[in-house]
Amino acid sequence: MLHELRTQLDNKEVSSVELTQQYLQRIKERDEELNAYVLTTEGYALELAKQADAVIAEGEATTFTGIPYALKDVFCVEGIETTACSNILKGYVPPYTATSVERITGGVLLGKTNTDEFTMGASTETSAFGVTKNPYDTTRVAGGSSGGSAAAVAAELAPFAMGTDTGGSIRQPAAFCGVVGLRPTYGRVSRYGVVSMASSLDTIGPITATVHDMALVMKEISGQDDYDATTPDVPVENYVEKLDQPIDGMTIGIPKEYFEVEGLDVDMRKHIEGVIKEIEKLPVTIKEVSLPHTKYAIPTYYTIAPSEVSSNMSRYDGIKYGFRAHGVEDLMDIYKQSRAQGFGDEVKRRIMIGTHALSSGYYDAYYDKAMRVRTLIRQDFIDAYKEVDVLLAPVTPTTAFVVGEKANDPIQMYLEDVFLAPASLAGVPGLSVPCGKLNDLPVGIQIIGPQWSEGILLQLGQAIENIYN
Ligand code: GLN
Repeated sequence: MLHELRTQLDNKEVSSVELTQQYLQRIKERDEELNAYVLTTEGYALELAKQADAVIAEGEATTFTGIPYALKDVFCVEGIETTACSNILKGYVPPYTATSVERITGGVLLGKTNTDEFTMGASTETSAFGVTKNPYDTTRVAGGSSGGSAAAVAAELAPFAMGTDTGGSIRQPAAFCGVVGLRPTYGRVSRYGVVSMASSLDTIGPITATVHDMALVMKEISGQDDYDATTPDVPVENYVEKLDQPIDGMTIGIPKEYFEVEGLDVDMRKHIEGVIKEIEKLPVTIKEVSLPHTKYAIPTYYTIAPSEVSSNMSRYDGIKYGFRAHGVEDLMDIYKQSRAQGFGDEVKRRIMIGTHALSSGYYDAYYDKAMRVRTLIRQDFIDAYKEVDVLLAPVTPTTAFVVGEKANDPIQMYLEDVFLAPASLAGVPGLSVPCGKLNDLPVGIQIIGPQWSEGILLQLGQAIENIYN
């Protein structure tokens, strides 16, 4: 789809201004109901589109020149409000632009999309701007935390959108909304200029309509960045060319523990088993593998992530950024009142859990132990990849759930991440690709690979897309 837009723009069948206006119009018509966007940048978008048309007229267009897109509201763009969908950041206008956004050179920013507050959640229900609805059924959530980005792409309110994935926040909403979502290898895409949640887990990646689009965007945004020390100098493959290579001989592992998870819906399991049967018809070998520490992934993730959250959230003190409480008496009161009034319940819950897990006397029992288990989970993947090239797994235990169904039960919400947290803890990439529907709702399948295997994930992803299109 992106390459078709490129051709249309280059052949002057449509101008970037016209294309941008079409998307802005669709957003006006549909987004009141969906709430995928928390901000549209209409004037800025039209200005960028005009500039892009001039570049195209000179014959100097590159991949993204004149192509509209959206950003989850944690990506900083100079001069445009970035709130992480938290009251504490409302009014914050960053003085610089994220590296990944700079690399979408010539792209036309349509607006910022909804997310759970500071990306903590799996349904966008913790957003200070209200929930995003699923375009397939507006009584249901779009998933989260990148629910706004996934819904925007699914409803064609943006050709593609950027998201972040700490413990599943790209893969899960992509699955719920029937679009493609990639959590890249930790360190593949620079995080400079993106609001942090849990720094040893945070990754950023695209949400797209097709696997080909994913390859295009990843090719441009990946690679080393002097502003992010976690991006090593590992060469970026030409992911688009990689798509043309045959998958013959690929060995695919099915991690048996993933199918023994208690919360996995019976119909979802049957559906995924059916998908695996279809994939078996491809020239690939499928075999069962074991990831023995899978059952510890949720408690491990929900110890490490809040610990890092409690540290990262300390910068929101009522002074440096955004919101400050009024009528306060002294400095300590500024901190206390601004944080008490500015943060929502889920963020506060995680700050408390994390502070506790890191406190002296509990550090060894919680944080340190979780870090040790994390190493075991990572080793599970390393061992599995001695036998197979990639792993296939469900993305979510169920299809998109009804708005409100899990909002008051944090444990239920945390269990949403059961198939997502392991790859996050291991730092390996995971691609969510649509694989049909269950009761008219989209289902995704997850391909998990070793570090830097994005090219292989996309190859297999495209083969799966071909089966279900
Ligand atoms: N649902 C997970 C959480 O709440 C994932 C969040 C994310 O990846 N940003 O932590």
